[in-house]
Amino acid sequence: MNPADTRAASRRAFLGVLFAAAGAGLGAPAFAGVRTALPRARSVPGGIVLLELGAAAEAPQASFGGVPVMVLGTPAGWTAAVGIPLDAKPGTRHLELRGGGQRRLAFEVAPVRYAEQRLKVAPGKVELSAADLARYERERDHTADVMATFSEEAPATLRLRLPTQGRRSSSFGLRRVFNGQPRKPHSGMDIAAPTGTPVVAAADGRVIDTGDYFFNGNTVWLDHGRGLLTMYCHLSTMRVNLGDRVAAGDRIGAVGATGRVTGPHLHWSVSLNRAMVDPTLFLG
Ligand SMILES: [Zn+2]
Repeated sequence: MNPADTRAASRRAFLGVLFAAAGAGLGAPAFAGVRTALPRARSVPGGIVLLELGAAAEAPQASFGGVPVMVLGTPAGWTAAVGIPLDAKPGTRHLELRGGGQRRLAFEVAPVRYAEQRLKVAPGKVELSAADLARYERERDHTADVMATFSEEAPATLRLRLPTQGRRSSSFGLRRVFNGQPRKPHSGMDIAAPTGTPVVAAADGRVIDTGDYFFNGNTVWLDHGRGLLTMYCHLSTMRVNLGDRVAAGDRIGAVGATGRVTGPHLHWSVSLNRAMVDPTLFLG
């Protein structure tokens, strides 16, 4: 969706952002060279691993499973922030690096057992008609395209704000069983709140998708840079349009009950290198 910038231009922009952040005097870096607030690391399926890549004149290019990975830092030290997919198998995994010669960096993914949740929903939302199935498959392919967004501008921060106020009604990773049938694990955070409760951007970003989807209802996707995306679902209203720039805290819509839901709530997902990861890791 986003044609890649030329390598040289992206490096200039990348370093410019990082030096600007350093000048702004953000919090003390936990990793050498990194001036950006980082998420909490948890090396499990659905978690994030932070890998020190060492000092180098230019940022190494990193990928995981063939997908570009966020690298942050300065020539004094670079760090990769890697999202681990919920369906990843525990064990030794490798980050692929290019720049200063090809190399692989091993890391361990520990096992995790998320809780099970049983839900009852309208039968038509589990047993899909041929027309609904065709619609879902179109939407799934479109969502995969949206999730492949990787823009070169680095995020100002990896600390996200909770996008709405309410009760967290279930948690990330739950193995969900709808009407007795196992489905994909819950890949976000649910926040129960009355219809109409404001929903705000979790960080500065750009609107890369809006639409009304079969399962997710009215949905907004934001791109925060370098493969960090957030998704807001089941909205009653959407206040933004494709291509809009938003600042952290800007209102983008309101809580609703559109799509497959049992009541009004916000479903909020965070995607890093196309992996849905636990949003709580990004909260202060
Ligand atoms: Zn949800």
